[in-house]
Amino acid sequence: MPISDYLVTIGLEVHCQIKTQTKMFCSCKAGFGYEPNTNVCPTCLGMPGAMPVLNEYAIERTVLTGLMLGCSMPPVSKWDRKNYFYADMPKNYQTSQLDLPLCIGGEVPLYSWAFPPDCKKKADGAVVRTVKLDHIHLEEDAAKLTHFGSYSLVDYNRGGTPLMEIVSAPDLTSPEETYAYLKSLQQILICGGISDADMEKGQMRCDVNVSLRPKGQKELGAKIEMKNLNSMSAARRALIYEIARQAEELDMGIAQVQSTRRWDDDLGESFVMRTKENAHDYRYHTCPDLIPVHTAPYVEKMQQALPELPDARQKRLMEQYSLPVADANALVADAALCAYFETAAAATTAPRKVANWLINTLPPILAEKELTIATCPVSPQTLAGLIDVVEEGICSTNQAKDVLALLWDNQELTAAAAAASLGFKKTDVGALEALVEKIIADNPKVVAGIREGNMKFVNALTGQVMKNSNPKPNPKLVTEIITAKLGL
Ligand code: ZN
Ligand code: MN
Repeated sequence: MPISDYLVTIGLEVHCQIKTQTKMFCSCKAGFGYEPNTNVCPTCLGMPGAMPVLNEYAIERTVLTGLMLGCSMPPVSKWDRKNYFYADMPKNYQTSQLDLPLCIGGEVPLYSWAFPPDCKKKADGAVVRTVKLDHIHLEEDAAKLTHFGSYSLVDYNRGGTPLMEIVSAPDLTSPEETYAYLKSLQQILICGGISDADMEKGQMRCDVNVSLRPKGQKELGAKIEMKNLNSMSAARRALIYEIARQAEELDMGIAQVQSTRRWDDDLGESFVMRTKENAHDYRYHTCPDLIPVHTAPYVEKMQQALPELPDARQKRLMEQYSLPVADANALVADAALCAYFETAAAATTAPRKVANWLINTLPPILAEKELTIATCPVSPQTLAGLIDVVEEGICSTNQAKDVLALLWDNQELTAAAAAASLGFKKTDVGALEALVEKIIADNPKVVAGIREGNMKFVNALTGQVMKNSNPKPNPKLVTEIITAKLGL
């Protein structure tokens, strides 16, 4: 039967590295880029007798995430040991949380701008729908293993760093929604300063599980899990493949077995790794070394620290700066771009023009020079100055690109000084009007063409005026004067 006759159910487990100075249970430095195995101590190396000490900041950030996502916090949250034997975990157990995690329930909004670009455009509202969460718990990351032909290397720097696991309910229904879920969640985590959530750097990692069942069947089909999908588009691709594979097998009468598969993004195929272990395989038990956490003081403290969420920001941008919805969406989708915008918008009288520059003009220039908005050599204040120069009629939008090029290499210049050094001056409107009158008088044939309704000839007149002007006026202004003089 066609794929559309199957109901698709998707659930996600997202691991997110919390941006902290130190590890979860010891005072070793967190963060990456250090020599392997230099940020280690008896606790994070699992030496016998070494005792863990809680990182309060990581608890606060997890609670803050929960508050941003509308979770509730149990009065007491506790720690559990998840036992397994592998080289990335020297204690042979991961300190995690099983039945009393820090945050329970909650939901992730799917923002309209977070869907894949090739997807059917969503309605203008900020939130398309919300996806239910099961819980959020806090745990420690494992060490990083790198496998070579006949041997493996292990870096314990990452071992014991704070890791937040955000577990959704099986509430997603398509690969596109899954993509939007990851993107929306990433934006919220960045908004709250919880994590940089860069999937390429492994700061945000995602496991998906997906099952199919024929329409009308109540119970879910066998859950197939795919681990460590390292980008949003990889997660989407893996799901598209997996849904088709399961549908095909179900069509042939092959029952699905709960299992874990590995997605190979280069091959575009998934392969069975193992049939799924259940939670009891890990012999979870309460950690005797850590006392439970009373959540109330953290909830109270973090309620004071709630940041503006992306949907609230989108609404504010539209109201405060009179931005069209598409512009507000584009800015909210990129935290760095949004911050740049707000600084520049505060320094000019034309915030809509700032948005237009940031969304349309600047990106191709930055891309060509392999820069990002964060490394853009032109400051928001300078860009605001450039927009004011255009607004004051000193140069046209097109001419402003030349000014921008000069500013790019001369960061000490103001936009006004750069425009002046390129010979752009505020137009003497009286002189310009006199010139327009002269050009009109000199070109009776062209004027006759315009009078017959051929508006293309207006451009010819504008060109004549531009040619005879030094410095060059704003061509838009010239056209305006011409049409006014001709009474059009
Ligand atoms: Zn340590
Ligand atoms: Mn985990």
